Amino acid sequence: MKLKLAKEYGFCWGVQKAVQRVEELLRKEKRAYCLGPLIHNPQINDLLVKQGLKIIRDLKKAKKGILVIPAHGLPETTIKRVKEKGLKLIDATCPFVKNLQQIVARLSQEDYQVVIIGERRHREVQALMSFADKAKVIEDISEIKDKKISFDKIGIIAQTTQTKERFIRVIKELLRKDFQEIRVFNTLCAVVQRRQEEAIKLAKRVELMLVIGGKESANTCRLAEICATRRETYHIEGANEIRREWLKNKKKIGIITGTSTPRFLVEEVVKRINKL
Ligand code: SF4
Repeated sequence: MKLKLAKEYGFCWGVQKAVQRVEELLRKEKRAYCLGPLIHNPQINDLLVKQGLKIIRDLKKAKKGILVIPAHGLPETTIKRVKEKGLKLIDATCPFVKNLQQIVARLSQEDYQVVIIGERRHREVQALMSFADKAKVIEDISEIKDKKISFDKIGIIAQTTQTKERFIRVIKELLRKDFQEIRVFNTLCAVVQRRQEEAIKLAKRVELMLVIGGKESANTCRLAEICATRRETYHIEGANEIRREWLKNKKKIGIITGTSTPRFLVEEVVKRINKL
């Protein structure tokens, strides 16, 4: 049996930066709050909790001290509330996401109807929406197909983890509508794009794909979707989920990870496969 590991795996630079920042902080301070998980990986969040990070869902739980902004950002209104409470802010938002927030704010100031191609319930998208007076989220082409939509000018961006294919499909459909002006920003993250391209290539060369990463991680879910349309695929969070029957008669297995998956999980997966 041969294991084929994707060329690029483990953390992306944005996640690496966020985790490093919080680890450094926790070495100096005993405790810090984070509103929601820092990244979408349960094992790393657990490790940070052991070092003193308190992951909270409700801002009311943070009475005083330091609050970390997670890698996918927070809505502008929430940041304002944090400041009003007198909490010290540590911003671990990925610089690429931050740039996206600035694009949304600028488009909104210039009176564009902002259109975000992405998942409306994802935290990155919810934060992005807060930077515009009026933002519309499109998850799927069916939401606009055969519908009358017209604005004077629209500015289109995408959630960083969307596939290029979906991005292009939605833009093409929007171009059929009645707009005087359309501005399109390619805000797809290059790291995510490279992994999606690699997933396509790898899935063609193997008999089974294992995609490692948090079940809440949007980019890992996209990788699993891409692989599943081409090959038998399992999206796992950890090595203990691998079942013996998956490996039966398989000679080549491909392994790829999301951008918030630490490398040690890949080592554990390889060990478990060898053991089985
Ligand atoms: S995947 Fe891209 S946008 Fe998301 S944290 Fe990593 S570098 Fe930033």
